[in-house]
Amino acid sequence: MSVLMKGADVANAMKEVLIDKVESLKEKGVNPCLAIIRVGNRPDDLSYERGAKKRMETIGIDCRILELPEDICQEEFEKEFAAVNDDPEVHGILLFRPLPKHLGEEPVIASVNPEKDMDCMSPVNMAKIFAGDENGYAPCTAEAVIEMFAHYGIDLTGKRVTVVGRSMVVGKPLAMMLLKKNATITVCHTRTADLPETCRNAEILVAAAGKAKMITADMVGEGAVVADVGINVDESGNLCGDVDFEAVEPKTSYISPVPRGVGSITTSVLAKHVVRAATRQMDM
Ligand code: NDP
Repeated sequence: MSVLMKGADVANAMKEVLIDKVESLKEKGVNPCLAIIRVGNRPDDLSYERGAKKRMETIGIDCRILELPEDICQEEFEKEFAAVNDDPEVHGILLFRPLPKHLGEEPVIASVNPEKDMDCMSPVNMAKIFAGDENGYAPCTAEAVIEMFAHYGIDLTGKRVTVVGRSMVVGKPLAMMLLKKNATITVCHTRTADLPETCRNAEILVAAAGKAKMITADMVGEGAVVADVGINVDESGNLCGDVDFEAVEPKTSYISPVPRGVGSITTSVLAKHVVRAATRQMDM
C-alpha cells in the first residue's frame, strides 16, 4: 500500500513549531510581519493571498496587503515597493508575479533586500541556493517538496532523483536543494531524449512540468516515491497534477495528491521564511 503524502499533515506539523517560535519572538518584542504586494486582481494571486493571510494569522504573523492598481505607473510602483522594502516593521515581502505587462520587474528584483525576499526573486538568494548555502530563501514551492520528504522520513542520501522541469521557480532550485541533501539528480525537460526511461529509473520522481497527467504508470518504477508539483485543469475542468494519479499510485511507495499535496505546504514555507527573517533581522 502506498502512503499518501498529505500537504495538510506537513503544514500542521510545521505550524506547531512556528507558533512556538513566533511566541518567543513576541516575548523579545519582535512582531513578525509579512507584506504581500499585489498589482491588480488576478484570481490566482487573490486565491494564494487568501491562503497566505489565513496561514499567517493562524501562526501569529502580521500580514499586510499592499494592493496596487492594475494601471499603476513604473515610477509609482517602484516608490511603493521601496517604502515596504525600507519599512523596519516589515520582515518579509512577497510580490506577486508576473506583473502587468507595462511594468518592469528588474528594478525591484535588483533592489529587494535579500533578507526580506521570501520567495527567491533576488539573484542573491538564488545564488545561495545554487551554492548550497542554507541561509538563502528558496522559492517556497521548491522548499515545500523538501519539507514533504522530511516530514515523511524519506531519506534522500544517495538516491536517484529525477526532477521533470527546469524552471527557475521550481525545477532548477529544487534540483540544487536535493543535491544539497546528497541525492543524485537528473533534471528533465522538453528536449530529454528518453523521458519515460529516465523517470522509470528514478527511486524518487518529482513532476514539475505543468502538463496534466503526463506521468503515466509506465514511467514510474516499482516502489518509487512520487511528488507532484503540477497544478493543472483536466478535461472535465477539475484540478489535477502532472501525474496520472489513479494509474501511478499502485506502483508507488509514497505519492502526493493534487490538490491537497505540495501546494498546501507553500504558505507554511512562506511563514517559516518570515519567522527566520524576523529572527535574523533582530540580531542585525
Ligand atoms: P514552467 O512552465 O516555467 O516550466 C515547466 C518546465 O517543465 C520546463 O522546464 C519545461 O521544459 C518542462 N516541461 C514541460 N512539458 C514537458 C514535457 N512534456 N516533458 C518534459 N518536460 C516538460 O512551469 P513552473 O516551473 O512555473 O511550474 C511547473 C508546475 O508547477 C505548473 O503546473 C505550476 O502550476 C506548478 N506550480 C505550483 C506551485 C504551487 O504549488 N504553489 C507554484 C509554482 C508552480 P523546457 O524548459 O524544455 O521548456
